[in-house]
Amino acid sequence: QRYHAQQPVVYYDSEITRKLQREHELNDLFDISIQNHDFKVYLQPKVCPYSSRLLGAEALVRWQHPKQGMIYPSEFIPLFEKNGNICRLDNYMFEEVCILIERWIDNHKPVIPISVNLSRQHFKNPELLPHLSDIARKHQITDGMIELELTESVFFDDKRIEIVKDNIKTMHQLGFLCSLDDFGTGFSSLGLLKEFDIDTIKLDRKFAQDITNPKSRHILACIMELTKNLNIKTVAEGIETQEQLNVLKELHCDLIQGYLYAKPLPVAEFEQWAQNHLF
Ligand code: C2E
Ligand code: CA
Ligand code: CA
Ligand code: CA
Repeated sequence: QRYHAQQPVVYYDSEITRKLQREHELNDLFDISIQNHDFKVYLQPKVCPYSSRLLGAEALVRWQHPKQGMIYPSEFIPLFEKNGNICRLDNYMFEEVCILIERWIDNHKPVIPISVNLSRQHFKNPELLPHLSDIARKHQITDGMIELELTESVFFDDKRIEIVKDNIKTMHQLGFLCSLDDFGTGFSSLGLLKEFDIDTIKLDRKFAQDITNPKSRHILACIMELTKNLNIKTVAEGIETQEQLNVLKELHCDLIQGYLYAKPLPVAEFEQWAQNHLF
């Protein structure tokens, strides 16, 4: 009996060792991968559900390692949030997006506004916004072309809400829009809307998954009503079915992002996709 009780310990032990080895390996690969541009911008369309027009996109990172193959953010983002590499990665993604928009401008292509994710670690850094502004100006990015996606944790991390408020004000002064990501997963999402000058909320995928539940639908309707009155744009994330889309249309959701329209795409494929969805 004792022998059996110990077995799982041995199993978890090797599991943990493997996990730590993997973390170590990914951390070691980071610098060279940044240098080699192995981190790629993927773009996921945001679509107007009434006209089916493409109105924006979210930049999502993919790690295309020549030996390891494709590595997804769920594996490395938490890791890089622990050791600070996330700031370098976010800056890198931000500049890649600026370079892309600049190319669109230079080639007289339509410019689609793009949102970039910022880790809360990164947002706390006072150098962040001026630095991003420098990068944006270097690439001739004008106001409103880039939206910064922040999660709720950003707003609780700093005990002094004045600092966060100032940050958002600075963001707007520098020409960036502010989006509240994963809306509805935390405890005081509604309170945040009152306190902070947010342009867009992104309804978490959980809402879409739960959409047939009358109670959830009611809550969603209230959120939509409230955001309309506050002049905040709504994006529904993780929309996979026509049924989900129909409900969100009934509720007057502004934008839809999800596999129903498109997965996150490599830039060339996104540009192809965009051609058929701009008008
Ligand atoms: P997120 O910001 O909430 O991004 C949305 C995630 O949902 C993406 O996962 C996207 O691929 C996925 N998704 C979109 N539509 C659907 C759908 O219809 N069904 C399902 N099941 N999933 C859908 P992804 O790309 O794996 O990214 C995961 C998370 O990693 C992101 O969640 C974000 O928190 C983080 N992340 C990604 N890129 C960056 C980055 O450049 N910087 C930072 N700081 N975080 C990033
Ligand atoms: Ca230029
Ligand atoms: Ca996001
Ligand atoms: Ca999200």
